[in-house]
Amino acid sequence: MPNIIPPTPSKPNGKSAMIIGAGPAGLMAAERLAGDGYAVAIYEGMASAGRKFLMAGKSGLNITHSEDLETFLTRYGQSRECLEPHLRKFGPDQIRQWCTGLGVETFVGSSGRVFPTAMKASPLLRAWLRRLEGLGCTIAYRHYWTGWDDNDNAVFKTPNGEITAKSDITVLALGGGSWKRLGSDGKWMEILNKAGITCNPFKPANCGFDVNWTDHLIEKCAGSPVKPVTLTCGNQSVRGEFVISKNGIEGSAVYAISATLRDLWLETGDATLTLDLIPDRDLTDVTTRLSKPRGKNSLGNHLRKSLGLDATKTALIFETTPRDILNDPAKLAMAIKDLPLKITKPRPLDEAISTAGGVAWEELDENFQLIKRPGTYCLGEMVDWEAPTGGYLLSGVLVACKLDKHTK
Ligand SMILES: Cc1cc2nc3c(=O)[nH]c(=O)nc-3n(C[C@H](O)[C@H](O)[C@H](O)COP(=O)(O)OP(=O)(O)OC[C@H]3O[C@@H](n4cnc5c(N)ncnc54)[C@H](O)[C@@H]3O)c2cc1C
Repeated sequence: MPNIIPPTPSKPNGKSAMIIGAGPAGLMAAERLAGDGYAVAIYEGMASAGRKFLMAGKSGLNITHSEDLETFLTRYGQSRECLEPHLRKFGPDQIRQWCTGLGVETFVGSSGRVFPTAMKASPLLRAWLRRLEGLGCTIAYRHYWTGWDDNDNAVFKTPNGEITAKSDITVLALGGGSWKRLGSDGKWMEILNKAGITCNPFKPANCGFDVNWTDHLIEKCAGSPVKPVTLTCGNQSVRGEFVISKNGIEGSAVYAISATLRDLWLETGDATLTLDLIPDRDLTDVTTRLSKPRGKNSLGNHLRKSLGLDATKTALIFETTPRDILNDPAKLAMAIKDLPLKITKPRPLDEAISTAGGVAWEELDENFQLIKRPGTYCLGEMVDWEAPTGGYLLSGVLVACKLDKHTK
């Protein structure tokens, strides 16, 4: 049996807290509030908790990152300022300790990403729910929040009809707008907008992009990785790998550059990614190697023998490069180091790993409390911040903040 060390709850403080949304943000808020002596009731629209968290577990549950904290903080871009004080209190080290406290050991993978040893989310979620139960939290499933009534009660649609509830503190932890089938449908945005709270429209984050591939390329390469490769868009360059899909491109390097590429596409309606297909060799070296006589070798064979390019990279070159360039070694070398790939659009929001957009920072105080509704907090992916994959998303969701009704 894992050694589960529950937090010690302080004495009941006579106050109640309502958490809406049983994803990681809501469950962490429940844990903190119960620890502070609140009577906590969690309401969840789905029939079980943490469905997206469990889905994240299918790819190993990259729960945080081990890089030094200063570099880690840069991953939150423009939202760093708002998240930093909370990430400093509950950052990568604390997340790992918290996992250990739940009986789940973690390890640092070769890329610095942190995973539970079991590479899945279910043991952690089970232990977490047990801890919350031990702290006296209740969870009502199939309770879908539809807004507030005229008396400011929260209204829930349930299998037994509508119910209302009120509490001293309300935490909205309703998630972003992707993977709707897992529960976070983003419909809360309309409710908050109606309540006069500014929410910025959702945008796909950590997403793939469509490319107008020929049928030939799809047939030959769909599902194949392109690696190693450096992708460049504007001032950002990312080295790594991506996958050719039947619609376009996806995978870690694409996700890492996706915010820049998406914003360029949204601004101009047009965006091109530049690929360096041979990042370990400089242009002179590539030119010299390509200029050697190829004898009876086909161009594909010549690329393989002289540069070690595999069939997928070669197919990409043939797909995107005009014939006159293919026949000129110096120009071809430049193309291989600087291959333009026009994307047509980001993949749909629902497919994205995460979403940008959501409750605007200016609506929240420094503890994520809605300034226009003191006592109501918004936490997790529903707030307008984004971060790349690498454990930064869950780290940003689990941040510590003081959940205690206060006005400025
Ligand atoms: C395929 C995939 C893989 C991922 N892998 C990783 C990873 O390895 N590492 C990482 O850091 N992040 C990963 N993420 C992202 C991570 O899972 C999310 O950032 C995180 O789950 C967001 O937590 P949250 O609590 O804010 O929202 P959610 O997890 O979306 O939880 C929101 C909850 O609110 C409920 N809800 C919504 N609306 C209502 C309503 N009206 N009434 C009642 N309940 C409602 C939902 O049902 C849901 O349970 C991944 C995401 C996906 C899709």
